[in-house]
Amino acid sequence: MNPVTFQTTMSSTKYIFVTGGVTSSLGKGIISASLATLLQARGYKVTIQKLDPYINVDPGTLNPYEHGECFVTNDGAETDLDLGHYERFLNVPTSQDNNVTTGRIYQTVINKEREGAYLGKTVQVIPHITDEIKRRIKLLGQTGKFDIVITEIGGTVGDIESQPYIEAVRQLKWELGHGNLIDIHLTLVPYLAAAGELKTKPTQHSVKSLLEFGIQPDILVCRSERHIPKDMRRKIALFCNVTINAVVESLDAESIYDVPLLMLKEELDKVALAKLNLPQKKEPDLKQWIDFVHKLKNPAHEVRIGLVGKYIELKDAYKSIAESFIHAGVANECKVKLEWIHSESITPGNVEEKLGKLKGILVAPGFGDRGIEGKITAIKYARENNIPFLGICLGMQCAVIEFGRNVLGYKDAHSSEMNPKSKHKVIDMMQEQKKITAKGGTMRLGAYPCKIKKGTKAFAVYGKENISERHRHRYEFNNAFLKEYEKKGMIASGINPENNLVEMVELKNHPWFIGVQYHPEYKSTVAKPHPLFVKFVKAALEKKNAK
Ligand code: GLN
Repeated sequence: MNPVTFQTTMSSTKYIFVTGGVTSSLGKGIISASLATLLQARGYKVTIQKLDPYINVDPGTLNPYEHGECFVTNDGAETDLDLGHYERFLNVPTSQDNNVTTGRIYQTVINKEREGAYLGKTVQVIPHITDEIKRRIKLLGQTGKFDIVITEIGGTVGDIESQPYIEAVRQLKWELGHGNLIDIHLTLVPYLAAAGELKTKPTQHSVKSLLEFGIQPDILVCRSERHIPKDMRRKIALFCNVTINAVVESLDAESIYDVPLLMLKEELDKVALAKLNLPQKKEPDLKQWIDFVHKLKNPAHEVRIGLVGKYIELKDAYKSIAESFIHAGVANECKVKLEWIHSESITPGNVEEKLGKLKGILVAPGFGDRGIEGKITAIKYARENNIPFLGICLGMQCAVIEFGRNVLGYKDAHSSEMNPKSKHKVIDMMQEQKKITAKGGTMRLGAYPCKIKKGTKAFAVYGKENISERHRHRYEFNNAFLKEYEKKGMIASGINPENNLVEMVELKNHPWFIGVQYHPEYKSTVAKPHPLFVKFVKAALEKKNAK
């Protein structure tokens, strides 16, 4: 196909690719989200896509210790945690199309091959896999909803796994033509203490590898712990064939929320727009963002809240929860000092010592048996000591189990996930779920409606009756026990209006005790902190001030 005819069939969407070099963990996701924030603040409609080079079809089946939390979109995609950053920065929901893995690409191609769609051809990485990658990249542009699609390519240039993606970018560059697609390459400019110098060689090598794959990067974002002086930028520009204004430094930042402002100073948005032949439109409107960062750095109050979970060795496992606390803290002009407490370490003997100083306790989502008794012990302590409590998903289920055991007297109360033999399966599997045997993508996933009862704590939080929140679980509150629970003071304050499932529970005789079957943390953004976290932090502050 010749590039000219191809171009006429394309929409006017422009594409920015973000590739990484030298090492992983340089923050491609944050750079992508920061650039998108700046472009959005200039009036462009932008979305961000992540291409992940692993063979899992989606990260839903991955242990959180592998890549951190699994983020869930409104339309029920289980995705990489970077999509959480995209939504938190842009305040625009992502979808199934925003995260693609090698597994998904191969699955599609192999299914097509089995259907006979390739008409007897030999199916190969080039062109079949790269065609499928390009199709997925263009899907977002074809919705007509976006002026610019930023696609982040997972992994580092040179990895065997990411080669088909890099090749797809090369082909697209040729097909779309100059000015319609750019590559931003993120590299590292390390400071060698012994030499007392910043070093550009790793960046030169990284660009060389990209060139070997046929891609000349348009912009280099150089991660560094020190300022990169002008003459060094000139040197990088010369060796890497880019304009000097396209050598952008990305200094280590105190907070990820500083990065859009750092990139603004470096004019990353201006350079990118110029290379895409797009007008600057207007100066970015970042008033709300700047105000957020100012409040983040100058809190008037401070409060200690405990996050009880079993994956706390890896903070990324609870990324969205931690970020939601940052948003909610800013909304309360308060620094939330999160204490990460391993659920396996909590016992009835040490709970006072572990949790006694906290003004709020959150029990985290999770799967399986490990650490469950510690969570239940923490909840009992929060309930009996009037400590504000928020239970999310498994955290809510544990609150139901705790109440069943210690208030209703069901000694063996449990979830059928942990104890299928219990006589009091107060958390149980829905009938439809019982038939399912495959693990991937089969939970209750994505956005579901919930109706809140007036006069409840839940209603005070949301200030409205009808809400929609995102789910990711298999087990549910067992409605056979609901009457008994409500009689003793644990009420269902939010119900799914379509199937009567309990989505929210709360205690009548407690200042602030709420459990939610859904995941509010997936919907908290800088522009719109989630009300449950905002009110939870407020309740914790009130608890602190009451003393
Ligand atoms: N393991 C529980 C379930 O599947 C809770 C899941 C979660 O916390 N996300 O229902």
